[in-house]
Amino acid sequence: MSDPFDLTDEPEPAPAFVPAAPPPAPQWLDKLNPEQRAAVEATDGPVLVLSGAGTGKTRVLTTRLGYILHRRLAKPWQILAVTFTNRAAREMRERVQALVGPAAEAVWLGTFHALSVRILRRHGEVIGLKTNFTILDADDQLRLLKQVMEADDIDSKKWPAQGLMGVIQRWKDRGLTPEKVSRESGTDYAGGRAQALYQAYQDRLRTLNAVDFGDLLLLCLVLFQTRPDILGEYQNQFRYVMVDEYQDSNVAQYLWLRLLSQVNRNLCCVGDDDQSIYSWRGAEVGNILRFEKDYPDATIIRLERNYRSTPTILAAASHLIAHNEARLGKTLRTGHTDAEPGARIKVRGVWDGQEEARWAVDEIEALQRGGHDLNQIAILVRAGFQMLEFEERLITTGIPYRVVGGPRFYERMEIRDAIAYLRLINQSDDGLAFERIINTPKRGLGDTTVQKIHQLGRAQGVSLVEASLRMIETDELRPQARASLRAFCTDLARWQTLKATTSPADLAAMVLEETGYIDMWQKDKTAEAPGRLDNLREFVSGLEEWDTLPGFLDHVSLVMENDAATSADSVTIMTLHSAKGLEFDSVFLPGWEEDIFPNRRSLDENGQKALEEERRLAYVGITRARARVYVSFAANRRVYNQWQSSIPSRFIEELPKDAVEQEADAGLYGNTAAGSGSYDFPGFGDVSRAGAGLRRPTRMVEAESWSSKPRKSQGDFQIGDRVFHDKFGYGRVEAVDDAKLEIAFDKAGRKKVLDSFVQVASETRKP
Ligand code: ATP
Ligand code: MG
Repeated sequence: MSDPFDLTDEPEPAPAFVPAAPPPAPQWLDKLNPEQRAAVEATDGPVLVLSGAGTGKTRVLTTRLGYILHRRLAKPWQILAVTFTNRAAREMRERVQALVGPAAEAVWLGTFHALSVRILRRHGEVIGLKTNFTILDADDQLRLLKQVMEADDIDSKKWPAQGLMGVIQRWKDRGLTPEKVSRESGTDYAGGRAQALYQAYQDRLRTLNAVDFGDLLLLCLVLFQTRPDILGEYQNQFRYVMVDEYQDSNVAQYLWLRLLSQVNRNLCCVGDDDQSIYSWRGAEVGNILRFEKDYPDATIIRLERNYRSTPTILAAASHLIAHNEARLGKTLRTGHTDAEPGARIKVRGVWDGQEEARWAVDEIEALQRGGHDLNQIAILVRAGFQMLEFEERLITTGIPYRVVGGPRFYERMEIRDAIAYLRLINQSDDGLAFERIINTPKRGLGDTTVQKIHQLGRAQGVSLVEASLRMIETDELRPQARASLRAFCTDLARWQTLKATTSPADLAAMVLEETGYIDMWQKDKTAEAPGRLDNLREFVSGLEEWDTLPGFLDHVSLVMENDAATSADSVTIMTLHSAKGLEFDSVFLPGWEEDIFPNRRSLDENGQKALEEERRLAYVGITRARARVYVSFAANRRVYNQWQSSIPSRFIEELPKDAVEQEADAGLYGNTAAGSGSYDFPGFGDVSRAGAGLRRPTRMVEAESWSSKPRKSQGDFQIGDRVFHDKFGYGRVEAVDDAKLEIAFDKAGRKKVLDSFVQVASETRKP
């Protein structure tokens, strides 16, 4: 009998593996409740664990894996375990290791993508991939697709490559190779040539010996179809297949799992339909719902006891998610028999985003003083642009933080681009900045041109900007490139002159518009583009705080430096999407305002369905917390240099009143009864003035367009009017541009504000 914990990664020739007399049940099984234990011990046939957040699904999966190894029901490499992120895979491996030791090493444990890479590196050759194939990142994918479209003379203005990229990705999510693409689904893109272009793109990928992300799954499916013998090997190898977060699998993943588990039929999926939050990426919650149909003999286990959160948090989450219609409906109760109800959810109304960050960080400091671990604190945002204000505040107060699942704000591509423009305006010698933006957005100044500029610069010992100025006086460049470079140099010189008289925020807004940079992202049809535009708006808004460009640029360099020094104990900032499956003692949920959360763009695109997905996201957010939840909303958001009033999210109304402790800044809003269970926020700045209160928005400020449209004009302000603004105090109107007023405030200096935020100071109105 071979060693069951043999680490070799080779399939055994003889399929039959008869376990010796099973070892006694390990003690760690006692840490499970009876239903969990049943799921772990159900090792024969398909199993579905469908249950709410924090009920121990991941724990069941991990323990089950350990149990199978312990019982010697399979060798490590005969188990395939799929998690949603690499991080989750790492954690699971560590936990299984703690249970059964090094045997955990050889388990096929990873994300769908990672596992598919492993299969394709081994067998890709039979479908035309060399084992050393490259996996393209998003930029490369796009570049390639553009080439393919250019070769086919597709009008890129009318049919941007990004749009086609999205179409192709969705096809791949659904397991569709070019020849399988049906008539209805997106084929009309690019004048009906989408399918042919998809084929051409795939052909190009093969020539390059490259794959994109979607290919990883898709090509595995193709491999399995082409070579049933290879599929058969895997089917025999994998005695057990287990999947976490099954609710977020897409069709390709579903097929992949189904094929691989077909022979042994020991497929165990765990998930929660209430946490399905990736439909925008092709996830099909239907996969989990049809499990019983696919496997009529499946053992279905429901876990109802939640071990993560306090009863109060559970009540809040359950009450909220009950507003969704499309759900199976589950009960959640606390798993701890003697559980105290726990702290109520703090719901806080604040004046604006800055105050929100200040409040949250004050609370974090209080937690820290109380001996709480920063690692146990998370700020979960709906959209990346919300991060900046928290990052800034945490930096100011010296509290270490990390941004998980994405770059920090200033490291984002679009923000780096914007900063590069500002750096170059500040300092013509900044060659790196020059290189970064000289052809972003595209202005026909590609690598060859830049090389020529470089050569000239080196030869004459001058900066790239100076070299460009000299080059346009020669006939070194083709006329078009020369004209384009000349235009760029002229613009740059103009911005540099304006620098002295224009605020950094205005300058940035102007540069981003004039260069076509905003336009570039507006035309971009990929899923990331709207987020990038939001980030750029937030960037410009954030610049408002700065009087001078050098001051801001120094700040950025310091912030970037601070980035390098990551501390072990730090607050986590991440999006709600990436927080799936994780848990923290304290969770901050900022920006609970209509438009931000639920996200307006999603609602516009997908209506009621999207609203329910947003609500599931809120449910995911709340259920990350063990002990404390802080929800906040601001009455005003500055969007692209403009103040807009906002309305508290409907989700706040959907929290049970007795689980909530309501707070508002007493100084600003007068006495709002904390914990009274009433959601009236009397005197809540513009919210109440707009008559909106906590009701649903009837009409929202147009926030979608880059240059946001002003609110309803009050109309009758005149230059010289003495006015009062809730935030900036008294001032005098200096300029009127439709609903935008430029006001010299007595204390706050010169600002541009919307007239709806301003009242005429009654006693001084001029006739
Ligand atoms: P999510 O839906 O958020 O992914 P989940 O259902 O996967 O949650 P787990 O993360 O496995 O839940 O468990 C939630 C918390 O409860 C973890 O800290 C876990 O260790 C703990 N837990 C799970 N089962 C038990 C139990 N029987 N006794 C004590 N603690 C438990
Ligand atoms: Mg989990």
